[in-house]
Amino acid sequence: MRKTDAQLRAELVKSGRQLFEDGFCPATSGNISVRLDSHRILITPTGVSKGEMKPEDMAVISPEGQHRFGRKNASSEKQMHLLIYKLRPDVHAVVHAHPPKATAFACAGIPLDQPIASEFSQALGSVPLAKYGTPGTPDLAAALAYLVPHHSAILMGNHGVVTYGNDLFDAHGKMELVEHFAEIVQGTLLAGRQAQLPPEELKRLNEAAVRYRAGAQRP
Ligand SMILES: [Zn+2]
Repeated sequence: MRKTDAQLRAELVKSGRQLFEDGFCPATSGNISVRLDSHRILITPTGVSKGEMKPEDMAVISPEGQHRFGRKNASSEKQMHLLIYKLRPDVHAVVHAHPPKATAFACAGIPLDQPIASEFSQALGSVPLAKYGTPGTPDLAAALAYLVPHHSAILMGNHGVVTYGNDLFDAHGKMELVEHFAEIVQGTLLAGRQAQLPPEELKRLNEAAVRYRAGAQRP
């Protein structure tokens, strides 16, 4: 059943509080959005801690970025969210944060594409690294554009992470998975070696993921 606007506002509050408490969005950083319908996006406001948002703080914008409703202005990163909704009609939620371990990889210029953890590879495949774009400018969205159709989690060069999915639970969970995987990769780098899964096993994992998603979508 389709969720009401009020339910989705409450979900944004809850997701923001969790991201803040997990240390993924220090100060006022990070932004979250959901697609309400084909002509409205609900997005977190600019300049507000993700740990202290209220349902009425959210801004409603059009797919072109015009302010439609709300006392506060939309996040300055709204163009990135809009680009993802435009390129991915299947996506209904976008989360952008700066989780410290994954962001360290983004700042080191290292993608999280190591085929070493079976369930992560199955859930997210590889997480590529987009080139740097100045925050709050069209450059940032442009740097992501060619990756958005093929991935659902991207490291943003010298910046942070963006994840997206068919609902906020999905997009938020992917952010947690990326940070968890970054910690695992960090551990293997400290250990000085990585045991890579063979290509045929990655193919098997991918096929199982496709079957699982098809099953999950069945009514
Ligand atoms: Zn950011």
